[in-house]
Amino acid sequence: MKDRYDVVIVGGGIAGVSGALTCINRGKTVAVIANGVETSSLYKAEMIRNYPGVAAASGKELSEMLIRQLESSGADLIHGRALSVMPLGDGFGVAIGSEFTSCGAVIIAAGITREKLYPGEGEYLGRGVSYCATCDGMLYRGKTVAVVGAGEEAGHDADFLESIGCTVHRFEKNGKYEIRGGVKADTLVYAGEEYKIDGVFIIKDTVSVTKLVPGLDYADGAIVTDRQMRTNVPGVFAAGDCAGKPYQLAKAAGEGNIAALSACAYIDSRKKEK
Ligand SMILES: Cc1cc2nc3c(=O)[nH]c(=O)nc-3n(C[C@H](O)[C@H](O)[C@H](O)COP(=O)(O)OP(=O)(O)OC[C@H]3O[C@@H](n4cnc5c(N)ncnc54)[C@H](O)[C@@H]3O)c2cc1C
Repeated sequence: MKDRYDVVIVGGGIAGVSGALTCINRGKTVAVIANGVETSSLYKAEMIRNYPGVAAASGKELSEMLIRQLESSGADLIHGRALSVMPLGDGFGVAIGSEFTSCGAVIIAAGITREKLYPGEGEYLGRGVSYCATCDGMLYRGKTVAVVGAGEEAGHDADFLESIGCTVHRFEKNGKYEIRGGVKADTLVYAGEEYKIDGVFIIKDTVSVTKLVPGLDYADGAIVTDRQMRTNVPGVFAAGDCAGKPYQLAKAAGEGNIAALSACAYIDSRKKEK
């Protein structure tokens, strides 16, 4: 991973890959931050028959073709979960777990996003609630924590927290969780039971996009964009399912392409201004 890219794309589904290929064609440096391929909507599709040029392919096959194409394109594929996109000097800083890079423009291609947080999650984020054990685990060394999340990453994080001396309650089921506390979170409520904790690690594939990019306009289950895929935050673009219905491959690929062209134009105009 480089310190700086022209464009960082969050999400390695068809929208993100399409955006990356266009940025590369335009001579830009690109990083795609991507959860495992199996987390994309496409991967779950049994058979695709309406994508031009591909008579029939399973979602798994098409996902693997996309990732291979991305890997040989010149874009950097960074495995992991983007946790935050923050304005930084002339562009943005992007945190991926405990690592960090920066860029001139960002494309959010995170797939269908759900903004609904657990009660208390937003309120106690940074005050007992964390999305990353590698980043924040040491603050809870020897203490009692909960890890909420199924998946491989949640398992690794729980193991890591145990390895540094934490007592770990593992919660792998979907359900109604609530975080309570005073100044800091001190209780996790699940299935009517209260668990006294010092910290809660919530490990989901996606981070709420409005938490990922502070100030992003979000309405009716989608990031608000114009036809150039610009969001209300200058330099941040969105494409694919996260930018709204219809949830279809051709639409996601097309929007990835438009978002990339807009991101490249944005970077070029910023360079001319200097
Ligand atoms: C069962 C099923 C069948 C379908 N069948 C069809 C069909 O036949 N034809 C059709 O046209 N469409 C179909 N679709 C819809 C199609 O799959 C989606 O519209 C398309 O995959 C959307 O692409 P995307 O790139 O926007 O999102 P996704 O494919 O969801 O990719 C987004 C990726 O970004 C990752 N991500 C999210 N947040 C972060 C983060 N913070 N950091 C790192 N990575 C992140 C996600 O984990 C995911 O891997 C189907 C969908 C499903 C679920």
